Amino acid sequence: MKVSGKGRVIFIGAGPGAADLITLRGSRLLAQADVVLFDALTDPALQAFAPKAQWVNVGKRGYCDSTGQTAINALLVKYAREVGTVVRLKGGDPSVFGRLEEELEALAQAGIACEVVPGVTAAIAAAASSQRPLTRRGTGRSVSLATAMTRTGDLNATRTADTEVFYMAGKQLAALSRQLVAATWPADAPVSVVSRAGWPDAMHSDHTVRTLAEASVLHAGRPTIVTVGAGARSLSSPLQMASSGASPGEPLKSVASPVGDVHTPATSKPEP
Ligand code: SAH
Repeated sequence: MKVSGKGRVIFIGAGPGAADLITLRGSRLLAQADVVLFDALTDPALQAFAPKAQWVNVGKRGYCDSTGQTAINALLVKYAREVGTVVRLKGGDPSVFGRLEEELEALAQAGIACEVVPGVTAAIAAAASSQRPLTRRGTGRSVSLATAMTRTGDLNATRTADTEVFYMAGKQLAALSRQLVAATWPADAPVSVVSRAGWPDAMHSDHTVRTLAEASVLHAGRPTIVTVGAGARSLSSPLQMASSGASPGEPLKSVASPVGDVHTPATSKPEP
């Protein structure tokens, strides 16, 4: 790749929520930005890391389709040529359902140097919020990060790993439930749903493949992760039972257990 000009673009994973989930490296490089192109789902509090930079919101409606993506690619190239350091701030990790490929390719074609700084992806944040380890010794040996959404907007669930984590399915949980059965998941397989993972108002609820639709109302309008299979199983520890209100020995089912300090969701952000 031919690299020319003074500009550079640093892709930084902001993490799934609250500003303090960005990495130390990410925050240090963010502080060097002249311009920051940021998505929805990134915490406005991150602006304190680069107060002198020009902050450009490219996460609004209109940037979501392919025309919007072309516009973002063009902005990245333009700013990189005009100013020194451009930060492309993305929710979670840039390489997970983040359109990183298109943006890297556009910059490579323009001969602009890039760097990618990883971030905490929503699947990992959901596991932390719900205290459900994604891998389990013996039973959960593989994890798949999947989107249930196809390019045409249809839903298509899969069963490719012991634990399947679905992004972008929050609006269609009833359809996902049916698709999971069609993908050979047992109707009583555990499903853990976490919305706004990593935020103080994160919410978690437990279901099965059959009862997943019940989660729709609880998590409505919030970015949501659906974890199916081994990694969704509850630990049955006394501490978890206590926090959910269930008695020890009782299975955790469809129990809405807010996680974090604030139990009432203060703000809701729509799922992109
Ligand atoms: N690059 C991001 C994913 C972008 S796709 C990452 O690595 O996390 C957007 C989807 O991610 C949302 O529809 C939702 O399914 C999920 N998501 C993002 N932030 C989330 C959060 N804080 N809690 C739960 N799900 C989240």
